[in-house]
Amino acid sequence: MSDFDAIFVGAGHNSLACATHLALKGWKTAVFERNPVSGGAVKTREATLPGFRHDLGAMNLSLFAGSAFHRKYANELKAAGLEFAPVADCFASVFPDGRWFGVSSDIEKTVARLTEFSAEDAATWRRLAGGFMGEAEHLFRLLGSPMSGRALAGTAWNLWRKKGVSGALDTGKLLLSSPRAWLDDTFASPHVKATLAAWGMHLDFAPDIAGGAVFPYLESMANQSFGMVIGKGGADTIIMALEGMLTAAGGRIFHNADVAEILTQDGKATGIRLADGETHTATKALIAGVAPGALPGKLLPKGSGNAGFDTAMKKFRHAPGTMMIHLALDGLPDWTAGAELKNFAYVHVAPSLDQMAKTYAQAVAGLLPDEPVLVVGQPTAIDPSRAPEGKHVLWVQVRALPAEVRGDAAGTIAPGHWDAIKDAYADRALALIEKNAPGLAQKILGRAVLSPIDLERDNPNLVGGDQICGSHHIAQNFLFRPAPGFAAWNTPVRNLHLVGAATWPGAGTGAGSGFMLAQRLAGA
Ligand SMILES: Cc1cc2nc3c(=O)[nH]c(=O)nc-3n(C[C@H](O)[C@H](O)[C@H](O)COP(=O)(O)OP(=O)(O)OC[C@H]3O[C@@H](n4cnc5c(N)ncnc54)[C@H](O)[C@@H]3O)c2cc1C
Repeated sequence: MSDFDAIFVGAGHNSLACATHLALKGWKTAVFERNPVSGGAVKTREATLPGFRHDLGAMNLSLFAGSAFHRKYANELKAAGLEFAPVADCFASVFPDGRWFGVSSDIEKTVARLTEFSAEDAATWRRLAGGFMGEAEHLFRLLGSPMSGRALAGTAWNLWRKKGVSGALDTGKLLLSSPRAWLDDTFASPHVKATLAAWGMHLDFAPDIAGGAVFPYLESMANQSFGMVIGKGGADTIIMALEGMLTAAGGRIFHNADVAEILTQDGKATGIRLADGETHTATKALIAGVAPGALPGKLLPKGSGNAGFDTAMKKFRHAPGTMMIHLALDGLPDWTAGAELKNFAYVHVAPSLDQMAKTYAQAVAGLLPDEPVLVVGQPTAIDPSRAPEGKHVLWVQVRALPAEVRGDAAGTIAPGHWDAIKDAYADRALALIEKNAPGLAQKILGRAVLSPIDLERDNPNLVGGDQICGSHHIAQNFLFRPAPGFAAWNTPVRNLHLVGAATWPGAGTGAGSGFMLAQRLAGA
């Protein structure tokens, strides 16, 4: 048994960022991770063949690069080995009529492509991009502040002061709109609308879900303004750098250390018990980077002492699941729509708003979508070091899928456990790519398919394969994340805090919850 100031359950990047800041402030910290490696949803492995490095979860590290944590510790992270690979050709979509649209950080390239679809949309794009920094100030302030009535009031005041009443209402409308409402208001071309709407599907914002418009807006404008970054060699560059900084500051990381119980005394968290029976004491803070449902009756066997909190944690809503298909390839897909598509970090196969809405509805109803939405990541187009010379990896995210399969919208796969049907479903997804890039099948050297249940097996926070650890719909975001009254990483148990994607400001690699909590605990 050892004594620490702060103990962390799980080595996700939020916990590592929090532990690192506290360790640098002199706290004695320890992180306990059930897996043999840190990183949770940010891991890179040779999942198919030797020499082919696949990002098993996150690939796009723009949120980390733009985070407050990175701004504060850029030099230290770099010294600890952090390296990004910048992306100029960020995302694109291919369409059944053989056309494509894509966003590159060179605005002239984006606008030239837009003009092919609609001169009006091209002018709108320039106007939106020109106004982005003014809008982003408020959105980034909101996303980068602890969630409290006071912070919200501060953001609203600043917004009103800078933009006046009607400008502030425009921002409010954007925050509340569905992707379709905002896209229909803003653009004319269905191709352009579909290309942007695909970003809502990275979360759980199908085109008609209120509160989703901000994601297509932010992602497209941020990519237009700053480009994108992925990790040099793999997304795990951020995890290795965080581990290096943490251990250099005296922090400890224990792997293969499954936390079975958070120990409490008189309503206060005092330590942990591992599955093998070992116990450790935390004198100042116990920080759980877990899914809310893992607390009551599990890590807290007798509950938190607050029935309302326990019920809210049990009822925390997860989003539909994801399947990941990792391919080792002889060459990148030959997209028929345009040779330039080989340069893009992401190619979406998500041809219309209606198709995305239908896919989401099918997944929520427990059906295997007949036509899933595909996010095809081409990391080796940007960072060839991830594969042997001349070879490539493909990162295929299949959105959105049920955790429990009750039927098949296409009527060809008999419902069953994901272990039995994942390969058949992966074939359906790959056939969609093949349709847009004939010859892919002949280029495949190796393949690894991770079903929604495989994702959860690797990381229990991804409940049912929910890659964002909890729906981000308005009723579970902002002051409601993970539950009303507990948006400040607090719990009813003194000294026990919840961090990670399930907490404000939500999923992604921005280390927001971890760093904001660390600053609060350390007093800066
Ligand atoms: C397939 C996929 C693709 C994604 N793509 C992107 C992307 O491109 N860009 C982006 O910004 N975001 C992406 N995301 C989202 C992003 O990766 C996550 O939101 C983020 O990494 C979550 O970090 P976290 O700190 O909450 O912890 P997690 O990454 O969820 O890690 C939690 C850790 O806690 C451990 N743990 C849980 N319970 C216990 C226990 N009882 N004892 C010990 N250890 C425990 C787990 O094993 C895990 O290692 C993606 C996610 C997935 C799954």
